[in-house]
Amino acid sequence: MAYPEDHTNHTKRIAVFAGSFDPFTIGHAHIVERIRSYFDEVHILIAVNYQKQPFQPLEERTAKIQDLYAEDPQVIVTSYTSIVAKYARALGESTVLVRGIRTVADMEAERTTADVNRQHFGVDTLFLFADAAYSSISSSVVRELATFGEDYSALLPK
Ligand code: ADP
Repeated sequence: MAYPEDHTNHTKRIAVFAGSFDPFTIGHAHIVERIRSYFDEVHILIAVNYQKQPFQPLEERTAKIQDLYAEDPQVIVTSYTSIVAKYARALGESTVLVRGIRTVADMEAERTTADVNRQHFGVDTLFLFADAAYSSISSSVVRELATFGEDYSALLPK
């Protein structure tokens, strides 16, 4: 009996989880925890947004997330100033992007980006619905609490 060819063992399975992560929350960390068992490597890509004044400067944000995963060779943390899909493509053909979906609004926006990334760069995007416990957690909630001097430490990874 002929077995189907095994295409899975030869290339590394890599996920690129990109975002502003300004700041990186327990919602983001939960996505990393959920996807890591499916991939050999998870790249957290801190994308630079020149249009927004950051809450945490890029260098500080990168250093904090790197610290978080310092003992974890499976998770690679880096900042990137160009097109995320190009970074993913350079890692190999089987690399995928991962995004979290919290709301219908997230889904609307993500669809267009995913289409462009697939059609122009040949990179697919996998979506995970946020766990109910994390679906209201966002960097913008953290920033808002910070504006009013409220404690937001529970929303950030330890
Ligand atoms: P961006 O500016 O690219 O949207 P974010 O840092 O806001 O960057 O989010 C990065 C990714 O993490 C997005 O796919 C977003 O939907 C997802 N995400 C953010 N917060 C959560 C959460 N609480 N649960 C699941 N996914 C989340």
